[in-house]
This record gives sequence, structure tokens and C-alpha cells, in this order.
Amino acid sequence: MEKKPIYFDHAATTPLCKEAFEKMTPYFTEIFGNPNSQHAYGRESVKAVDEARDAIAKIINAKPNEVYFTSGGTESDNWAMRGIAHAYMNKGKHMIISPIEHAAMLATAKALKKEGFEIEFMKVDEDGLVDLEHLKTIIRDDTIFVGCMMANNEVGTIEPIKEIAEIAHSKGAVMFTDAVQAAGVLKTDVKELGVDMMSMSGHKIYGPKGIGALYVRNGLKIDSILTGGHQERMKRGGTTNVPAIVGFAEAFKIADREREENFKYVSKLRDHFIERVLAEVPFVKLNGSREKRLPANADFSFKFIEGESILFSLDLAGISVSSGSACSSGSLEPSHVLLALGLPEELAHGSIRFSFGKHNTLEEVDYAVDVIKESVQRLREMSPLFKAEGEIKYV
Ligand code: PLP
Repeated sequence: MEKKPIYFDHAATTPLCKEAFEKMTPYFTEIFGNPNSQHAYGRESVKAVDEARDAIAKIINAKPNEVYFTSGGTESDNWAMRGIAHAYMNKGKHMIISPIEHAAMLATAKALKKEGFEIEFMKVDEDGLVDLEHLKTIIRDDTIFVGCMMANNEVGTIEPIKEIAEIAHSKGAVMFTDAVQAAGVLKTDVKELGVDMMSMSGHKIYGPKGIGALYVRNGLKIDSILTGGHQERMKRGGTTNVPAIVGFAEAFKIADREREENFKYVSKLRDHFIERVLAEVPFVKLNGSREKRLPANADFSFKFIEGESILFSLDLAGISVSSGSACSSGSLEPSHVLLALGLPEELAHGSIRFSFGKHNTLEEVDYAVDVIKESVQRLREMSPLFKAEGEIKYV
């Protein structure tokens, strides 16, 4: 009998949960009205969107009118950074982000730099944790924006957002966090975190793809990036994606309800995996913080081998993982996250991210470790780098 494929790439995306799928279905075929329409069909759609907004606001401890639906984390990140830059450029043009942000932030920063904004990076340590003392030294009176992800998508490190927000606010800067990997997994109470803006995405939490949200604290100015109709309180044009919004809210409610239970279960899988890999595979390095880490994440660099070779080898054995971040795979550039953590290029090339989900089992984890051991040994035997180290032998 053919072995069932194993999916260890939940940080890239998750399967849509049955409950969200079922909740969404009528909004494709029966309740299909445009929420902007002034008739019964429109009103039914408005009701669904309002309920979804209320549910998400409640989970993150915000007011419903502080939640804006977007097409996902990428748009939310773009909007947060550009929207604040353009709304507050009279106060200053200095913006601070971490060097391990998602490409959605880094590419936006690059574009803003071309417009004349000054982008400065806070330092991170070898685990990827933001150096708060360094941040204090670079923040200025004309800093308008401080942005740091709540948890890193590649190495899973969880950042001290509350402390970063305090530093940002000490100079009157807007504090933004990208919580795409954190929402539904960690508590994302915007008041407790002290953030002014926060990005979220549906497809990382067993919701649909192509939907997300941006929390924007009331009172904050933010320019639009998608100009058009009157949707989202005139801030984000585009016909409302009602089925996706309904599915996103349903998935988020379930993730929030099951949060502690899933955290415990998935971290047990992760810890077992990490312990076995460290004990049984020589020359590996666990990237990111051991303690302040997303429950589902295990990111390893395998010395002497390219990440891609391990990825393909695992894929042949039916195990789906990611090399570096999903969004940068396909490029042969070393991971910008691992370089920022101070890893040499060789190790930054040889990294693999395993991200577990609530449907994974301990048996799958054990099988994966056995395959990794065998694959890594075989690839190293073929590796000129490994051979060049001459005396290195397996124990
Ligand atoms: N931010 C982080 C931290 C992510 O991990 C991702 C997706 O991988 C994004 C933003 C982009 O989100 P989306 O896929 O919804 O555009």
C-alpha cells in the first residue's frame, strides 16, 4: 500500500478546515450579494461581513471598526508601512524595521527608500531576538514607524513586541506588528501588546487563502493604497470577498478556541522532533530561539548539504517541508533571516523548515526523522564539501 504523504509545511499554508469550508459555501452560490448593494441580497452579505468583523475584533480585543479586511498578509504589511509613511511624512521620514521581516515588508521598505524615506534596521541576536538596547539608540524624534513581526516565519522566534512598542511610543512612533504567523497560535490581544497596527492572514490558520486583515487603532491616520470604491469605510477599495471573510472568521474562532490545546499538542511533536534530530543527526544546528519559539516550528541547518537537496530527498519520500521561507524558495539566495542571525553563508544555504500542524502525529514525526537520517547521510557521502573535511566520520 502506498504511504500517505506527510505535510510538515504549515507555516507556508494550512488546509482549509471543514467548518470554515461549510460556512463559506452558501456565500458563493446563494448569498452572493454585493455588500454594497442596497437590496436584500446585499443586506444578507453585509450581515455576514459584520459578524465576521465582530468575531475577529473580539479575538484580538479591538473594536469592529478597527478591523479592515484585505487580500492577506502581504497586502496588510504593504498597507501598514506605506499607509503610515504617506500619512505621517510631515512629521518625519525615518522608519525602523527588523532585518528578519517577511519579503512583504522588506520589499515595501526598499520601495519607500526610493521615495526618500530613511529605513533603519534594528539589530537581532543569534536567536533572532530584537536587541532592545540597540533599538533605543536608533529611535529618534522623527521616527514615524517601528515594525517588527510577532513571530518569524522561518525560524519561529517570538519577538518581545510589548517592549518594542514601549520604545516606539516613547518617541511617538506608530508601532506595527506582522502577526501572520502568530495570530491563532499565540494570544494576539492588541491592547496587551500595545500595538497600533497588526497584520493577520487566513490561510495560516486553516482558513482560506487570499484573505487577511489589518488592525488599525482608532485615531491613527493611514493613507489608502487600494483606492477605489467606498468599501472598508472608504479605506480599501475593491468588491468585498464575502465567502473568504466568512471562512477566515470561522477559522480564526476555531483557532482561538483550540489555541491552548493545539499549542500543547504541536509543541510536543516539535520537541520530540528537535530532540531526536539533535541526538541522531550529526552536524546540525537548530536555528532560532529554543524557548521563545512558535510551537510548530523546527528549523535546522544541515552542514555540508544544500537545503534544496534535502527538500527533494524528503519530497521523494512523501514528506513536504520548506527550505528557508516558502516565499523565497526557488531562489538560490541564502536566507536573509539566517544571515541576519549571523550564520555563515554555507549554513544559511543548508536550512530546512519543518512546521507541524494539528493533524500531524508522533508516528509521522518519527518516520520523518528516520528518513532525514538516511537522506542526510547519503547526501553527505556525495558531498565534496563533506569529503573535503576528510576525517569526519559518522558515529
Ligand atoms: N508575513 C509573514 C510573517 C508570513 O509568514 C507571510 C506568509 O508566508 C506573509 C506575511 C504573507 O501573507 P499572505 O500569504 O497572506 O500574503
